[in-house]
Amino acid sequence: MTGRPGRTGRGGGQAGAGDLLALVRTGRATTRGALQQATGLSRATVGQRLDRLFRAGWLREGAGGPVDSPLGGRPSITLEFDDAHAVVLAADLDTRHARAAVLSLTGELLAEHSGTLVVEDGPDTVLGELGRWFSELLEKAGRRADEVCGIGLAVPGPVDSETGRVVQPPIMPGWDGYDIRGRLARAFTEHTGAPPVPVLVDNDANLMAYGEQRTAYRDCSAFVLVKVSTGIGAGVVVDGAIYRGVDGGAGDIGHIRVGADALCRCGSHGCLAAVASGGAVARKLAETGVPAASGSDVRDLLAAGHPGAAALAREAGRRVGDVLATVVTLLNPGVLMIAGDLAGTSFLTGVRELLYQRALPRSTARLEVVTSRLGERAGLVGAGGLVVEYLYAPERVEERLVALGV
Ligand SMILES: [Zn+2]
Repeated sequence: MTGRPGRTGRGGGQAGAGDLLALVRTGRATTRGALQQATGLSRATVGQRLDRLFRAGWLREGAGGPVDSPLGGRPSITLEFDDAHAVVLAADLDTRHARAAVLSLTGELLAEHSGTLVVEDGPDTVLGELGRWFSELLEKAGRRADEVCGIGLAVPGPVDSETGRVVQPPIMPGWDGYDIRGRLARAFTEHTGAPPVPVLVDNDANLMAYGEQRTAYRDCSAFVLVKVSTGIGAGVVVDGAIYRGVDGGAGDIGHIRVGADALCRCGSHGCLAAVASGGAVARKLAETGVPAASGSDVRDLLAAGHPGAAALAREAGRRVGDVLATVVTLLNPGVLMIAGDLAGTSFLTGVRELLYQRALPRSTARLEVVTSRLGERAGLVGAGGLVVEYLYAPERVEERLVALGV
């Protein structure tokens, strides 16, 4: 390791405008003096780089007034990321339902819509319709389409993050290998007249985990979220970044074989999702004459205190808890969040019963098992956050400033 301590330049080079912006955005250095100290740059160089960020409208002076400088001397003005210059669009697809929103760059929801959108209708129809939703949402939020800097999309299937395409998704017929990014960018342009913007696509459980971790668990360096709705999936956030594995398959725990003979939607028998998902519980309830066809029906029954639904949810929780004992032993997370239609007291009781019985005490000693903070908005917040982190990453800031002519 060479260079001055605390230096943040990439590849041994000097810190650029993007590095300074990252330090301000994350709160690690929010005055000129602190930026000099963190980067080893001179006062004049910090000033030049900040000036570009001010001219782009990406930075502003803080409302709090001057604070003491770490280098001594005059009190310094604090700097803040200025989130007023752009907005992000986000959407979260479930199998028969979707949510979409306009978000600020700091993750605030400015307008939101949810409605029926059936994944089985295929990507062309679904993504075209999302383009229309986005156009209406921008109007509702009072923002122009040319203020949109990017779009984030959560989908209920495994995603190759290099290409943004879904890979052999068990519950998204017709989507395998489809150019989601290109179609959604086109739909946005068709419905708003604005030029295409970058589109990022990721798995829904990944983005829910990312949204929740960024909102309430920023200090947690190993965070796991398990979504139990129509299917079962997990998202893992390590050191603030989504852990995807080598080809986007990490966290796809719904198709682990647990030795039952129930047929899964993926075509195999005995998957965890075939016995412990919201869909599986709904099927078992229907067999006993209770009207339930989906995970959301089970959610409603649980909310109404239906004893049969509660017993089946607890049993499903035990099945999932058994698998999570392995997950927790492998990853030793600080937080295990249970989200989705089944996430309630009965299911959690079942999860805890098997998790603490099967996992090593060392890996659960400091583990918090919690339910969602953001609820049905977690995927939207995560998708918006993913776009912001992509566009304001130090290596991308420089090329974007050049494109803006500053
Ligand atoms: Zn399966």
